[in-house]
Amino acid sequence: MTGQLVGQSVGIVGGGIGGLSAAAYLASEGADVTLYEQHDEVGGVAGRIETETFRFDTGPSWYLMPELFERFFAHFGSSPSDFYELVRLDPNYRVYWTDGDTVDVPADPEQAKAAFEERESGAGHALEQYLEQAAETYELGLDRFVMANRTRIRDYIALDVMRSGKAINFLGTMDDHVDSYFDNPKLKQLVQYTLVFLGGSPYNTPALYTLMSHVDYNLGVYYPIGGMMKVVDAMEAVAQSQGATIHTNTPVTAIVPDSEGVTVTADGTPHRHERVVSNAPPAHTEQELLPDGIVDRKATYWDDRTVGPSAFMLYLGVEGTIEELEHHTLVLPTDWKPHFEAVFDDPAWPDRPSYYVNVPSKTDPTVAPEDGETVVILVPLAAGLDDHQAQQDEFRDQILTDINAQTGVDLRDRIQFERRASVSTYRDRFNKLEGTALGLAHTLWQTGPLRPGHRIPGVDRVYHTGGSANPGIGVPMCLLSGEHVTEAVVADVTGNGLLQTLR
Ligand SMILES: Cc1cc2nc3c(=O)[nH]c(=O)nc-3n(C[C@H](O)[C@H](O)[C@H](O)COP(=O)(O)OP(=O)(O)OC[C@H]3O[C@@H](n4cnc5c(N)ncnc54)[C@H](O)[C@@H]3O)c2cc1C
Repeated sequence: MTGQLVGQSVGIVGGGIGGLSAAAYLASEGADVTLYEQHDEVGGVAGRIETETFRFDTGPSWYLMPELFERFFAHFGSSPSDFYELVRLDPNYRVYWTDGDTVDVPADPEQAKAAFEERESGAGHALEQYLEQAAETYELGLDRFVMANRTRIRDYIALDVMRSGKAINFLGTMDDHVDSYFDNPKLKQLVQYTLVFLGGSPYNTPALYTLMSHVDYNLGVYYPIGGMMKVVDAMEAVAQSQGATIHTNTPVTAIVPDSEGVTVTADGTPHRHERVVSNAPPAHTEQELLPDGIVDRKATYWDDRTVGPSAFMLYLGVEGTIEELEHHTLVLPTDWKPHFEAVFDDPAWPDRPSYYVNVPSKTDPTVAPEDGETVVILVPLAAGLDDHQAQQDEFRDQILTDINAQTGVDLRDRIQFERRASVSTYRDRFNKLEGTALGLAHTLWQTGPLRPGHRIPGVDRVYHTGGSANPGIGVPMCLLSGEHVTEAVVADVTGNGLLQTLR
């Protein structure tokens, strides 16, 4: 700690991953940090449901980019292993296609190459080349843009990569990029499905996100025993150990900055701080918490954004064990374009959905009874869809019937516990724009300097952190977002203006 914020009081609105990360970093710089979370638990969409017998992570379940978790905990003198046991999954995941075909994608890249080669002559070598380029893009993107907290357009333009031919390719779509490596549509799906993690599709996400293939194929897919909730618990403990105070059940209804500070109305009571970091969704912060007219953006700014998908979630405690499903299983129609169109172009409940089934109890006996499984189903949906009860009931039945047809597992008469989340959950419980589950999609126009930054145009002393701000969606990115917003606060407090790394 450099103590650059000693004597500064900083309020944080929201205790999602970005808010908890910011709380820890800001407090470690000496700020007097108070976090206000509207619900009775922190974690945000990385929430939990706990019954006597089953435990569910309600949001993230893929622990990717372990080095960024290491980086977070190392800053505070600890490591993930002080808080939870991490296991690497093998296979990474299983896929069932709706034509009856199935594949396990192995953790070992050499075996993955062999699996690709089996399906298309030359595809093993193509995967090797594809992953080499993905690795290069990852190193470049992460080290020089994302970790380095470069959010100004001139930083990107000045860098030599933009002068190389590669930059042009990376601005094309992922679909075109992947087309140049593989012919088999199923192999293309196997390297593109991770785009859904970014709230995008192969048709609207720039090819630079090929780096996501490096993340799963090369760096690996991990799982913290006890679930992602262990990560949230660990972050809360770290923030508190740095001196942050966390208030739950404390909704914020207004953030009003003036020339000397900021007044936050939390649970009806005004609190003064020198600065405020909002982890509430940026559209909610700017349109509902800040005073009208102070944000310097076009009136239509938020209407014009591309929001990432919402999700229909089923949390099922199931009797008996399930052999047919892996820890992570994807069910994909061989032509998945109509589902992406139903999410991004022509919002509708999908007829032939692609979906993801998570069964953490395959790896972790602590989340289900011995003769049971914890099953979470995630179907990406268009944000803004009407999800009235009858529609949800019908879709739930459609999905359970489909799982039976595609994987051979009939869950319907084995369900001992059931809960759902849908578009209205993300809209009403988390104040997410149009009920998106993930936040702003990573389209070209919502990437890097074009994504909402930590500073809010026209507003002093109030900042954004979290998945819809820079660097973006996902737990690892939100960990970084808390680090980077702290750099912005330090720069503004010290009058330095420039972002200095905290290390
Ligand atoms: C279903 C699902 C699956 C996902 N899967 C993965 C995955 O496998 N791996 C991965 O890395 N990422 C995954 N993600 C993405 C990842 O979980 C998110 O990007 C990340 O958790 C978002 O964190 P955030 O900081 O933006 O905060 P959020 O989770 O959005 O939290 C914001 C917090 O602010 C609070 N808040 C809002 N308004 C107010 C207010 N007015 N007053 C007080 N508090 C307020 C909310 O209650 C909430 O606690 C998934 C997300 C979802 C929804």
